[in-house]
Amino acid sequence: MAQMPFMSPLDFEPAVAPAGSAGGEERWFVFRGDRLLVELGPPSPHPSGDLRVPARPTWARLPQGPALHKNNNGLWSPPTRTLYLGRLGGSDCWAAELPAEAPPPPPGLGWEGLRALFSVLEDAHFALAGRAIQLLDWDRNHRFCGRCGAPTEAKAEERSRVCPACRLAAYPRIAPAVMGLVRRGSRLLLARGPHFPPGMYSALAGFVEPGETLEQCLAREVAEEVGVRISRPRYFASQPWPFPNSLMIAFVCDWESGEIRPQAGEIEAADWFEVLQLPKLPSKISIARRLIDGVAAEMLPSVSANTGSGA
Ligand SMILES: [Zn+2]
Repeated sequence: MAQMPFMSPLDFEPAVAPAGSAGGEERWFVFRGDRLLVELGPPSPHPSGDLRVPARPTWARLPQGPALHKNNNGLWSPPTRTLYLGRLGGSDCWAAELPAEAPPPPPGLGWEGLRALFSVLEDAHFALAGRAIQLLDWDRNHRFCGRCGAPTEAKAEERSRVCPACRLAAYPRIAPAVMGLVRRGSRLLLARGPHFPPGMYSALAGFVEPGETLEQCLAREVAEEVGVRISRPRYFASQPWPFPNSLMIAFVCDWESGEIRPQAGEIEAADWFEVLQLPKLPSKISIARRLIDGVAAEMLPSVSANTGSGA
């Protein structure tokens, strides 16, 4: 199984409450807004490798020591909400949210966005930080029943919030999104949205609509965004994506007909790129980059042979 950023660590056991008496180490994933509390070093002098991230810290790790103790009151400032996540190895893992007006953290600790912590924070902790921020977000957004407006209650035996008045239950919600990389001979279709960093292109992507299969979503998204018809969708891989609560499902497919017509407002530019001359691409944090790299690597031997540049 390929390791994907944000994929649950293999030795993680999710749970809604700690089993038995507390003991051993604890891991705390403390957020203020979308930033995680970490011990962190100075900014690295090297490029971050992500056009969306100006700089990464040279190192970062989850806070340890007396600043964060066993119970919630151990945080230097009272959390707005605390959720148990489960066990990683032998450690109980907790998520907590501090309010925006919380006083600054103890010396040596700071707030950092998840993108800047990719490849800096330990992989398992990075993945659980992605889980933590989604569950905190869900918990915050479901304090009241969506049907009758009564305050909801967390269920003890599963991850849900239930309305005591009308019994409506809310579970953490994942929004599936399909990503598609279209092949045409030795070229790949890449596009850029209006909010992309300058010069960066990526594969196409969009959310699955009610009633659609993944393959139907892929065909519709490609047709809507660039006016091209596709065939032969092949599954590539999937990736949890906590910005804010998606599951990305990536496909490669073949061009069938039509020429590129970028969708106004959605697609700023789109083009066919020779696999040997790809533009700036997203960081390896995203499945988009893995999809493009993976498909390009598959195509390169035949492309090189045809152009006589193969070694
Ligand atoms: Zn209700």
